[in-house]
Amino acid sequence: MAIATTNPATGETLRTFDELTGDEIDRKIARAVTAFHEHRRTSFAERAERMRRAADILEAETDDLARLATLEMGKTLASAKAEVAKCAKGCRWYAEHTEALLVDQPHDVGDTSANVFTRYEPLGPVLAVMPWNFPYWQVFRFACPALMAGNVGLLKHASNVPQVALAIEDVLRRAGFAEGVFQTLLVGSGKIESIIDDDRVRAVTLTGSEPAGRQVGARAGQNVKPSVLELGGSDAFIVMPSADLAEAVDNAVASRMLNNAQSCINAKRFIVHERVAEEFTRRLVAKMEGLRIGDPMDDDTDLGPLSSPDAVETLAKQVSDTVAAGARLRTGGHPIDRPGNYFEPTVLTGIPDGSPGHREEFFGPVALVWTARDADDAIRIANDSSFGLGGSAWTRDEAEQQRFVTEVETGMIYINKFTESTPEVPFGGIKNSGYGRELAGFGPRAFVNAKTVWIA
Ligand code: NAP
Repeated sequence: MAIATTNPATGETLRTFDELTGDEIDRKIARAVTAFHEHRRTSFAERAERMRRAADILEAETDDLARLATLEMGKTLASAKAEVAKCAKGCRWYAEHTEALLVDQPHDVGDTSANVFTRYEPLGPVLAVMPWNFPYWQVFRFACPALMAGNVGLLKHASNVPQVALAIEDVLRRAGFAEGVFQTLLVGSGKIESIIDDDRVRAVTLTGSEPAGRQVGARAGQNVKPSVLELGGSDAFIVMPSADLAEAVDNAVASRMLNNAQSCINAKRFIVHERVAEEFTRRLVAKMEGLRIGDPMDDDTDLGPLSSPDAVETLAKQVSDTVAAGARLRTGGHPIDRPGNYFEPTVLTGIPDGSPGHREEFFGPVALVWTARDADDAIRIANDSSFGLGGSAWTRDEAEQQRFVTEVETGMIYINKFTESTPEVPFGGIKNSGYGRELAGFGPRAFVNAKTVWIA
């Protein structure tokens, strides 16, 4: 994919960028190594001061930064502003907490004269391969804990958000992080393997699709380098009869449509108890049909474009193949005939086993609805997925709540609230949704040497 800014709302390519040459990549990695030797010696207090300054810049420049995200990947301006604000929150949270999270951990070995502890030391340059969907947050989610832990970052951002990638580097440099502590590499995905192979790069994290994760994880494994993979999801949203139906439907639409329906943790599979399934579906269809589709820069817009023409084509085929396999189309189902990458809000019911709706992640405004006989059946359907990222269950019955908490096979389960990502709470998945965790205490510990020290 060319490295370019193409407005998804119009299809117009506004700027293109040359990919870095091999020599340029080499120089940037060398600079990262030099920067690491300095950066790791800075105190937590010095790093925290820079993180807080980064938060100040993000807050002062929210409007411009948000416009850039909307221009490059099409999310609504309101959601882009909220994303930049969340990055500032992430900077402040890690400024405040990282030192305590990485403090030496003493061990009692039964010998009071020995001083035995675990010390968390940074690893060095970490490659971060990132997606376009939350173009700021995915990067800050990695960068805040990694830089606070004393690592340095090399960002290979998605090829459709180069200006956001450069803006992030600029924010962190202006915040006071030394040259080389965080660098953007404008390269396509074809260059990633040689960067992972480079001995100077000590670890890799990828947020993105399952195929990309498999490739990057395999390469990291060949090089015996640690990796974190945050991949796709097809999160279940279980609705039981005791739930407040109006609240469940409101949250179903909010979760499915979050970020123009292109989030890893959007609710994608709606699993509804048979006693309320038809009423839930009727209300869901009505709400989906009521969404205002338009220019993401407009305050009135609920749903903007998808990121690319390819995304529209993929989604259209997933929907038509699922219908051809026997699903019932309750509303929508097609690309919208207007400039830009727009797709109709869509509801499908009766999803056949083996169809794309059953097996694949739908990265766009399509709600897939199943009917469950009871809690057992709901859990069976929820777990009948190769993904295991997040999920939610809507029920006031405490016994049911406990069953969903224990038996739904995911990295995250939310009860009467849809899955979200926030700095205080760990984030990540199991199964084909990846491995490792980000955020909270897991973030800073993802890329450290937990060094055992024994002073006799
Ligand atoms: P993607 O195509 O996998 O791209 C993500 C990043 O990986 C981009 O920088 C991309 O570079 C690179 N990439 C693509 N193919 C690669 C390959 N074969 N080897 C190495 N790198 C490769 O994913 P996307 O379409 O941008 O993002 C959507 C996916 O990300 C969805 O599946 C979504 O669920 C998932 N996601 C997961 C999380 C999470 O936290 N679990 C969060 C957000 C998104 P180019 O742009 O240059 O191709």
